Amino acid sequence: MAHVIVLGAGAMGLAAAHHLLKAGHTVELFEADRVAGGMAAHFDFGGLSIERFYHFVCKADAPTFALLEELGLAQAMRWRPTKMGYFYDGKLYRWGDPLALLAFPKLDPLSKLRYAWQMFMATKRTDWRDLDGISAAEWLRRGSGERAWKVLWEKLFTLKFFELSEQVSAAWLWTRIKRVGTSRRSLMQEELGYIDGGSETLVKALVASIERQGGRLHLGTPVREVTLEGGAVTGIVTAGGERVAAGHVISTVPMPLIPKLIPALPEALKARYAALRNIGAVCVIHKLRRAVTGNFWLNTNDARIEVPGLVEFSNLRPFADGTHIVYVPYYMPQTHPKFARDDDFFVRESFGYLKLVNPQLTDADRLDSAVGRLQYAQPLCPPGFAAMLPDIVTPIRGLQIADTSSYYPEDRGIAESARVAQEMAARVGA
Ligand SMILES: Cc1cc2nc3c(=O)[nH]c(=O)nc-3n(C[C@H](O)[C@H](O)[C@H](O)COP(=O)(O)OP(=O)(O)OC[C@H]3O[C@@H](n4cnc5c(N)ncnc54)[C@H](O)[C@@H]3O)c2cc1C
Repeated sequence: MAHVIVLGAGAMGLAAAHHLLKAGHTVELFEADRVAGGMAAHFDFGGLSIERFYHFVCKADAPTFALLEELGLAQAMRWRPTKMGYFYDGKLYRWGDPLALLAFPKLDPLSKLRYAWQMFMATKRTDWRDLDGISAAEWLRRGSGERAWKVLWEKLFTLKFFELSEQVSAAWLWTRIKRVGTSRRSLMQEELGYIDGGSETLVKALVASIERQGGRLHLGTPVREVTLEGGAVTGIVTAGGERVAAGHVISTVPMPLIPKLIPALPEALKARYAALRNIGAVCVIHKLRRAVTGNFWLNTNDARIEVPGLVEFSNLRPFADGTHIVYVPYYMPQTHPKFARDDDFFVRESFGYLKLVNPQLTDADRLDSAVGRLQYAQPLCPPGFAAMLPDIVTPIRGLQIADTSSYYPEDRGIAESARVAQEMAARVGA
């Protein structure tokens, strides 16, 4: 049995530690943050424990269900019929089913037909290899036509990826469409899920399992360096200078950080990690006295609104006190000047958006707001990404490295992080 060090206590690091301990290894887990959970962590929002970044579950998220089952939490899944909307040029439309598309006045019938067909076929497709080499924009233009691209997609891309909009592979977009598109009760009814108590329920259960099995979780302890010698990993050095030896290290921190974290890696390999890019996110969460709309997800396409959509979370997960929770996620390259604006700016601007969508909202309806920020929120997966992605198993003996881009073409998600974690744990000592 081996001694294993895991870097990062997000869903992937926690799940890896849980599986390693189950297999009889000893494990030390190092997390830079003061709390466990990574992107799925909760915070105290005026007495309400909730995710800093919205999290929902789809019916395709099998690894999440398996992990919940293993932790005795199978009963914690909640499923709800949910609605989508589209706020287009100042008007709110129904969205997300064939009748809504038929009734949408901004698109001609042929474009609607082509769009519907492309989306339907995307949910049936199983092979993604031929989508890896082309951009999502090109795939959509070809499949749904120029007009549908302009009306339905272009703004969503521009407001998430900005100048990098063409740098998104069709395979990555396809998995997103398929994941949400197959989470339905019927053609007419989307159905999404959440974990009772939020992602924290899963995070807490993983931490409890790790501690029960003798694993050691060091919170607030960033790793400064992973050390190597003679082609093998030898351990880590914490930011405080403490050295811990181990023959196996699993890193789950964002991969663009790897060249600095593991300076002794071969130069060619470091260059591959350095070439990976992420989009940042500033995610505002508002607590309101009243709902904005009846939708869970609202796409927005309006010259006055600089986000591609809103997530009205309480329309999926209701809160006992009747509070309404809305997330307004701003995604952008970290180099975008807006990324440096302060929290107040984002709170004011995003609440203004909510008032545009629902003019009945007043300032008195806003009970509280908070802002979460991430430098590495969304891996950028350009065309040809499959060949750019370094293998999880490195040429260094005992060293595995993964992050949320490692399961490309799947988008970042708790389920896929949990799946990759289990695979990494199984390789130790195999
Ligand atoms: C806005 C937003 C919305 C999302 N919505 C959903 C959703 O609806 N459904 C869903 O399934 N998923 C969603 N996700 C994605 C999901 O949160 C992630 O896929 C998952 O949590 C990733 O877990 P991870 O452990 O792979 O990575 P992370 O959570 O990023 O964990 C990496 C950890 O490494 C730590 N770390 C970094 N550097 C160091 C260091 N030097 N030393 C030690 N530790 C370090 C970090 O602090 C972090 O805790 C969303 C993400 C975001 C940002």
